[in-house]
Amino acid sequence: LPEVQDIRLLRTSERRTRRILAVASGKGGVGKSTVSANLAIALARKGLKVGLVDADIYGPSQPKLMGVDGIRPQAREKTLLPIETAHGVRLLSMGGLVVEGQAIAWRGPMAGGALGQLVDADWGDTELLVLDLPPGTGDVQLTMIQKHKPAGAVIVSTPQDLALIDAARAIDLFNKAGVPIVGLVENMAGYCCPHCGGISDPFGSGGAEAAAGALGIPFLARIPLAMAIRIASDAGAPPAAGNSEAAAPFGALADSVYE
Ligand code: ADP
Repeated sequence: LPEVQDIRLLRTSERRTRRILAVASGKGGVGKSTVSANLAIALARKGLKVGLVDADIYGPSQPKLMGVDGIRPQAREKTLLPIETAHGVRLLSMGGLVVEGQAIAWRGPMAGGALGQLVDADWGDTELLVLDLPPGTGDVQLTMIQKHKPAGAVIVSTPQDLALIDAARAIDLFNKAGVPIVGLVENMAGYCCPHCGGISDPFGSGGAEAAAGALGIPFLARIPLAMAIRIASDAGAPPAAGNSEAAAPFGALADSVYE
């Protein structure tokens, strides 16, 4: 069983150094980027100075999610300057460094170098960097974790068995690197019907919470599969930035990570 540490992400101004919170998933498509963006915004709304690093080299989606698609970051003396989004979160993305529409086929060392530039950018007084990692548990992820030593990691999974098994692998990766697991977020947990508001469970329910228990890690939040979340995300205005019902689970997630 993985080692459990109850870490609350203390205010960085008291700790002097900027802290990194990694968001990981065992596989793609589970909503890791959606959760990262909304968690970053929800943490910013709690008064933290938050930056978001989109390290997903295979499919950087944060520029679109955060409404700054097509904007390239400026550089000062070879150091990148994060983009100020409209949602109170600064952003740097691999998506901002490549030409749109071009396939991204980074080789290990090249990807590592580019990712390093995103983390080592001019983040100013940013207290917490939310790091949206590429899905999976390969070399790029391991190098990133070892080099930048996150203060903690949040694992995102859907309720499905396969995604949960993959999540266990991601947990193992952080344990080996000595990075404490903050906990597991269950995304797409229950379908929220846009017509009647009722919740149904196409992928089953309670699986992730039980798995977190079995793995000995905290269960942080349950985010429903909701049309409103998808539409807001596509429009570059993540629900956590607004005051709709869809913002609530992300606020609860932020509360469980930082108080
Ligand atoms: P990942 O980063 O894990 O590959 P994304 O965050 O890109 O996954 O999400 C994949 C797709 O699912 C996106 O179209 C996103 O808008 C949608 N999505 C993610 N989470 C939810 C949710 N809770 N409700 C509705 N749609 C979601």
